[in-house]
Amino acid sequence: MGTSYSVQWSDASISISTSELKDLIELRLGRINSLMSTYIPNSQLSDFNQSRETGWHAVDSELAQLVELALSISIKTDGAFDITVGPLVNLWGFGPSETAFTFPTDTEINIAKRSIGYQHLEVRIDPPALNKKVADLYVDLSAIAKGYAVDEVAQILNENNVLNYMVEIGGEIKGRGVAPHGNPWRIGIETPHFERGKIEKIVSLLDVGVATSGDYRNFIEHEGKHYSHTIDPRSGYPVSHNLGSVTVLHQSTAIADAWATAFMVLGPKRSYQLSIDNNLSGVLITREDSAYTSTIFGKMQSYLTE
Ligand code: ADP
Ligand code: MG
Repeated sequence: MGTSYSVQWSDASISISTSELKDLIELRLGRINSLMSTYIPNSQLSDFNQSRETGWHAVDSELAQLVELALSISIKTDGAFDITVGPLVNLWGFGPSETAFTFPTDTEINIAKRSIGYQHLEVRIDPPALNKKVADLYVDLSAIAKGYAVDEVAQILNENNVLNYMVEIGGEIKGRGVAPHGNPWRIGIETPHFERGKIEKIVSLLDVGVATSGDYRNFIEHEGKHYSHTIDPRSGYPVSHNLGSVTVLHQSTAIADAWATAFMVLGPKRSYQLSIDNNLSGVLITREDSAYTSTIFGKMQSYLTE
């Protein structure tokens, strides 16, 4: 996934050894990567992306199910969240490619946009398969797979009676039970500064997944302007509004992950409305000059420490 992971737990005694647990987790993550990673040239998803053939391609049911979840969020967000946005992500220099970045031209953006649109992708669960309706379709699960993998690692811990843990993959997090000091695991939500370090809110991980999307960590700078790694699939350009970051809490970290990216595209007003319609909890942090305003939504207050 092009990132790191960490797992911590505080259970006094567990029936499985640390190394056995680590092996189980890494086997599971390896399997997820071999299905879904666009950083691995021969993952199942990369094979699908490289194929020039339209029509149905058989895939593992796990991959089909995650694509189905992603498409359901595309529908709910009118395409703000769109896993076919990959060609634009790559064009803007945020993809797996390591070739030198040049600032994209309008022509390049318009060409890339032709192969983009979740309507060009269809999923079938039984038998599991993906259908590309345009040959250039490229599926990028970067905005949902880390959250999904967090849920899967948490599941392994649950199954092995590890019930007090915090799992983190590339910044997406799930926590359950208590930390070594006996209180719930806590994490800080950063102020979306380009200079890092300040904490805006402290969240208790009460058996919940947490995902944050922001414009302040992964961006490019061109002629004095910042360009976010979140791309609006409709315009073809990185998003630019005063939403510095958004954090979403959900039982499913995969769902939290996807909505956080969707909200980054939609901006603060529309996101707030959609959070109500979709029963989501979290916080939007907007930026005005150098001041920041936090707006919580849903049941967020019950997770906040201060
Ligand atoms: P963040 O923590 O900011 O959400 P993620 O890695 O979870 O970061 O998601 C950002 C990645 O999602 C981008 O690097 C890109 O691969 C992909 N992406 C960008 N824009 C969109 C979008 N509108 N819909 C779905 N995926 C996107
Ligand atoms: Mg995300």
